[in-house]
Amino acid sequence: MKEFLNGRVRVTVGDITRERVDAVVNAANSSLLGGGGVDGAIHDAGGEAILAECRELRRTLYPEGLPTGEAVATSAGRLPARCVIHTVGPVWGRHGGREAELLANCYRNSLLIAAGRGLASIAFPAISTGVYGYPREEAARVASETVAKFLQGETATGDERDESAGALREVRYVFFSQADADVFLRNHKFD
Ligand code: ADP
Repeated sequence: MKEFLNGRVRVTVGDITRERVDAVVNAANSSLLGGGGVDGAIHDAGGEAILAECRELRRTLYPEGLPTGEAVATSAGRLPARCVIHTVGPVWGRHGGREAELLANCYRNSLLIAAGRGLASIAFPAISTGVYGYPREEAARVASETVAKFLQGETATGDERDESAGALREVRYVFFSQADADVFLRNHKFD
């Protein structure tokens, strides 16, 4: 496990559904009704309760689906985590050059939810780098810059300047393979 920012950021390899953290982030799709990759693994391991809450969110708050870059929380069912934060990453090449901005929004909005709930730890998968085709090198840059800015209390817009990381003590990046973690470790912008 590699550490950055005085241990507030950790990089690890494994199955994110097994992480003992307060919040696990799901690389969802806008339907919120499940899919492959991390999404499928979270719903399989977490059980029906998560899907039932996602269906309710669709019915009430997001009838058109969760927009790209936004995030929403549910409980975590049978996962060891306390909640799941679902966020929709950009599909590479489908957003007219706004992919980096949208990917940053995924990280920032997930962190805002965790901080708003007073959570101490959050684990992220490599959002958009699977089926959504985001180049891993580029994703590493965006994921690290956004988390660093957040933990250092400088969010991108004036409106959010008062938001802070609050009780958030640990942000963990969970890669499915050592090769993916190595790409991140070669391309991150910490330090
Ligand atoms: P997206 O649709 O946002 O690209 P994917 O789930 O297809 O999301 O992939 C995102 C990343 O998550 C990929 O790098 C993939 O290897 C990884 N991944 C898949 N399953 C897991 C898991 N159980 N735990 C951690 N990472 C996973």
